[in-house]
Amino acid sequence: MLFIDKLYETNSLDRNELKELIEANIYTPEDRLFYAARRTRERYYGRSVYFRGLIEFSNYCKNNCYYCGIRRNNKKIHRYRLTKEEILDCCAKGYELGFRTFVLQGGEDPYYTDEMIVDIIESIREKFPDCAITLSIGERPYDSYRRFWDAGADRYLLRHETANEVHYRKLHPSVMTLKSRKECLYNLKEIGFQVGAGFMVGSPYQTIDNLVEDLLFLKELEPHMVGIGPFIPHKDTIFRDEKGGDVDMTLLMLALIRLLLPKALIPSTTALGTVDPLGREKGFAAGANVVMPNLSPQKFRADYSLYDNKICTGLEAAESVEELKQKIEAIGFIPDMSRGDHIGFYLQKRQNSIDIN
Ligand code: SAH
Repeated sequence: MLFIDKLYETNSLDRNELKELIEANIYTPEDRLFYAARRTRERYYGRSVYFRGLIEFSNYCKNNCYYCGIRRNNKKIHRYRLTKEEILDCCAKGYELGFRTFVLQGGEDPYYTDEMIVDIIESIREKFPDCAITLSIGERPYDSYRRFWDAGADRYLLRHETANEVHYRKLHPSVMTLKSRKECLYNLKEIGFQVGAGFMVGSPYQTIDNLVEDLLFLKELEPHMVGIGPFIPHKDTIFRDEKGGDVDMTLLMLALIRLLLPKALIPSTTALGTVDPLGREKGFAAGANVVMPNLSPQKFRADYSLYDNKICTGLEAAESVEELKQKIEAIGFIPDMSRGDHIGFYLQKRQNSIDIN
């Protein structure tokens, strides 16, 4: 309890203080911690909840992450890729529904060369100049990121997954390294992207010390966005029999991230909505302020199966955006379909251009 006021006032805590708060994990939504998280969110973003249209454009992946349903070695899923035209159709549908941010997410699919991604970005930019473009396509070299930025992409989501080397090894094959993941995040930031990091709560072998490290890493990186959600086992992965992440622990992490990074844009994720029918609402009450309805073509939604029972037909479907807006209003928040940039972003952009001159 002691540390909550300090966290609220200074937006930082040391390792031991964070650990003590997490070990307790006894908070209810009425508690001071969640109240402080909500107040902090309101300081910069009011009661707005920002909408992003998610386009899952490929479920091919060259990686073999032990937790993920679209991992390369899963031979049981039906693989699909969208063409540029299909992606543009998704954007057009999203634009019509009012979306002004498109998130292009996929497995790490080398089929899409840098040139193809650049072409897709330029086409979206040209057709929807008032929209933000977010990429979430994994690790690529610095120069590729730079080309995507030059083509007009604004934001990039790349969860670090865990900030602890030993834990990282338990979740990924040895060709993937935490060092490279972190390097990508720092590269993206340097180039100028609004960057999103994040991790799964309750992934196999995760300890409370790991969670503390995740929070301290986020504090150090200072990403503009943070995506977290509970780990959910997938039946065709190595972790099929592992226990899933806990809702309360996820909510506690959301609140702590909000308090550590007051200006961050934080989604209430589909994973949270999957493990608890009221998960998304609880996420907003814990300090989240973004929601990412699914704009992918209906016929492929079930194939983008990162984990079992991923919801894709209800309120998380972009088609139900009006219903989702009503739900958000009913719990006292304000749906916001604008680009919804990070509050420090315009200032930062200006500073960048001053540097160049
Ligand atoms: N390939 C891209 C993004 C696709 S996966 C990338 O590397 O960034 C998006 C996120 O889903 C991952 O970062 C991971 O944190 C999450 N995820 C994957 N499998 C999951 C599972 N079984 N349970 C919960 N979240 C999962």
